[in-house]
Amino acid sequence: MKEKKLVVIGGGAAGFFCAVNAARMSPGLQVVLLEKSNKLLSKVKVSGGGRCNVTHACFDIAEMSEKYPRGKNFVKKTFHQFFTTDTVNWFEEREVPLCTEADGRMFPLSHASSSIIDCLLEEADKYKVEIKIQKEVSAIEKINAEFIIQLADGENITADFVCIATGGFSKPDQFDWIRKLGHQIENPVPSLFTMNIPQHPITELMGIAVEDVILKISGTKLKERGPVLITHWGLSGPAVLRLSAWGARILHDMDYHFSIQVNWCPELNQESVRSLIQDYRQFNGSVFIGSKNPFDLPHRLWLFMLKICGIDNGTRWSDLSAKGQVLLTDTLTNHTFQVKGKTTFKEEFVTAGGVLTSEIDVQTMESKKVPGLYFAGEMMNVDGITGGYNFQHAWTSGWIAAKSIAEII
Ligand SMILES: Cc1cc2nc3c(=O)[nH]c(=O)nc-3n(C[C@H](O)[C@H](O)[C@H](O)COP(=O)(O)OP(=O)(O)OC[C@H]3O[C@@H](n4cnc5c(N)ncnc54)[C@H](O)[C@@H]3O)c2cc1C
Repeated sequence: MKEKKLVVIGGGAAGFFCAVNAARMSPGLQVVLLEKSNKLLSKVKVSGGGRCNVTHACFDIAEMSEKYPRGKNFVKKTFHQFFTTDTVNWFEEREVPLCTEADGRMFPLSHASSSIIDCLLEEADKYKVEIKIQKEVSAIEKINAEFIIQLADGENITADFVCIATGGFSKPDQFDWIRKLGHQIENPVPSLFTMNIPQHPITELMGIAVEDVILKISGTKLKERGPVLITHWGLSGPAVLRLSAWGARILHDMDYHFSIQVNWCPELNQESVRSLIQDYRQFNGSVFIGSKNPFDLPHRLWLFMLKICGIDNGTRWSDLSAKGQVLLTDTLTNHTFQVKGKTTFKEEFVTAGGVLTSEIDVQTMESKKVPGLYFAGEMMNVDGITGGYNFQHAWTSGWIAAKSIAEII
């Protein structure tokens, strides 16, 4: 009998995971992986600052799925088949142990993304996955039971099964060849970006990190708490990135022009800040206001706040004017910035949008429109916040597609 053939399109995390697992699980299957560029696993290489944030140390499916602004209900089901523990075990069984950082991000113990890349390449070699680079797919047709895959260079390749793992596309028309297969696409918008506050004096404090703040976007329900980093163009850091992920579509619709309110003292509200200042005036009246702040903020940020409130550093707490007190309370709890534009975070970004999950069988990753066609990774309308969640979705969906094809064979 003729050997069955799977063609995986895309040499990223999801495509590789599908290809190597399919080849291992189905010895009789010929597996070909097509990559349009001349680089394999390029995002794995640069991710996590070159260390590859493989997954997140969360071992509860309901809790983990809450980290996906798009596709939460989809991953809640897929994680039952291949979850974080499976990712950890999969790499550990191949001598790539992972370790966990204090914030839950998991990296290879070597702290080098090359460990993950080498492992996947060795696995591909071991199970004879045929890897073809500089092969861009431009169209797919299904004639009877056979797929005809057309490449941009004019070559045609046939297949019995196809897995599309082409990652996120930034422009709607890049999905045209997938639309032609009968699939609907949620238009792509960027996620995981930082916020530009051009010409604002706070950018002079670039490099200052504040461990815990509350961010709110005016006129929306968007709210996040966590660390922020002041940069030379505006605000960055985990809380900003998470806010950008949850607000990816709303902020796109606002053309990235909005007001952001920062509470620099997240444990406190206006009332409690006011009473803390009053206590300070009473019990530390002779202390210079610029010498130390009662709010545990970085000292330079504190001095900056005094400056924008028109309070001299050399003022004693007892001499703080009523107006100064009101301004300071407001700045500490409700510091408002006008965001004008975004910057895609160089460490990590993803595309929100892609193939509608309602058109993909959640148990198998098979298209509900075209039998034999599978999807994996960021190309579907699933994306997570920063912290390893996007790779986990890539491993999970790639593995399920491989397993489903193996079961058919
Ligand atoms: C700089 C950066 C850092 C990141 N860091 C992290 C992190 O630390 N943790 C985390 O969880 N996520 C991270 N992410 C997100 C994560 O990398 C992606 O979600 C993940 O790589 C998606 O995997 P994928 O295989 O679906 O797509 P991709 O990795 O994008 O791979 C898709 C591949 O398909 C190829 N391709 C596209 N179209 C075609 C075509 N028509 N024909 C043939 N080949 C094609 C592309 O060239 C590409 O190689 C990061 C992203 C970036 C950009």
